[in-house]
Amino acid sequence: MAYEINETHDPNLKSWVESANDPNTDFPIQNLPFCVFTQDKHAANPRIGIRIGNSIFDFEKGVENGLFEGIPAERYLEREHLFNLSYAHDHGAKSFSGVRERLFELFVERADKRRRSRVNEVIFEATKVEFSNPFVIRDYTDFYCSIFHATNVGSMFRPDNPLLPNYKYVPIGYHGRASSIVISGTDIKRPKGQNRSDAEQQPVFIPAKSLDYEMEVGFFVGQSNELGSSIPIADAEKHIFGLCLVNDWSARDIQAWEYQPLGPFLAKNFATTISPFVVTMEALAPFRTPAFERDEGDPQPLDYLNDPTNQKFGGIDIKLEVYIQTQKMRDENIEPHLLSRSNMKDLYWTIGQMLTHHASNGCNLQTGDLIATGTISGKEKSERGSMLELSWRGTEPIDLPSGETRRFLEDGDEVIMKGYCEREGFRRIGFGECRGRITPAD
Ligand code: MN
Repeated sequence: MAYEINETHDPNLKSWVESANDPNTDFPIQNLPFCVFTQDKHAANPRIGIRIGNSIFDFEKGVENGLFEGIPAERYLEREHLFNLSYAHDHGAKSFSGVRERLFELFVERADKRRRSRVNEVIFEATKVEFSNPFVIRDYTDFYCSIFHATNVGSMFRPDNPLLPNYKYVPIGYHGRASSIVISGTDIKRPKGQNRSDAEQQPVFIPAKSLDYEMEVGFFVGQSNELGSSIPIADAEKHIFGLCLVNDWSARDIQAWEYQPLGPFLAKNFATTISPFVVTMEALAPFRTPAFERDEGDPQPLDYLNDPTNQKFGGIDIKLEVYIQTQKMRDENIEPHLLSRSNMKDLYWTIGQMLTHHASNGCNLQTGDLIATGTISGKEKSERGSMLELSWRGTEPIDLPSGETRRFLEDGDEVIMKGYCEREGFRRIGFGECRGRITPAD
């Protein structure tokens, strides 16, 4: 059960990997997220790794070296990256949980010397490896699950009627593009597209003028479902492998002109950035919250999206932060500037509801599919998860410590997203960073 707290969440546990005991690390022994890495850019075979402190443990070599004896871990490696890791997830949460337990035994402070030295043979400094997408992502879906974001954006375009009548019934989403999902640190080239900001003129094809980010969280599908079958809400989380941060880059000027009647297309599919580490559902157990508390007049979710356990634990308390650093700020050694703070627990729909809704018509979700929440904004102005909202469509420019202002992103701007979980009585865990820098259009 994904919500169960066990000995692997004990806040007092320390690791013999010293950097994992730093109170500020995102990656203490209680976290242990998965990633895919290569030792250098030119290495042929990316391998599955586990992040702990400032180190990456080569999970595959660990399996080959017998560190997972007694756990059916070998089959995880007949894989497309993490494909079979989630296959195992699929065929019994128990064996998956067994991997986490074994990782604990390997890394905990009291681990015996012989084990430690065997682990030490297959551990690398995180700064010396290259990360790639943790799954072969075949499909990507983006939802629109923050009612605060939907209301903000709606009120810019439809001041009298910001929220459409379907919003409180249907988790709204669209199919994104998987091929342009890139790992944190990849440069983002400003897209070109049709712009018709002057309604009196013909549209023009130019580099996007209103380039934006969207602060989102994504989850990876572990267990698939057959075409034609659905996933009951009570089972939804058994199909989720883990979470990462997502930046759904968006060109607002392209979007404004193209989006009717079929929704986002080229305004979104030029790039999406994800953070490299997949934080497992088990690691997140201490940070579960009730589903969004709906206003009294709001409808309850329809039956297929309504489950008492999901209502009680379906939310996740993940604190999210967005920073910007411009070229001028880098030149003048000015630290990245905080643009917003928001929290995943403020989403109107839970990840379980998103997944169940997605498969409710018989759509088959596949291992490695990425499903993102949509921009996560909160009630307050300081909690707006996109520049569109922060600058109110460019009408309220944002002041930066360099003396510059921003309505939207300029070339050279770097957007840095962070996420972490904190709760009294538990160890803080984090997601690392999701960053990308804008380079000029061709
Ligand atoms: Mn989005």
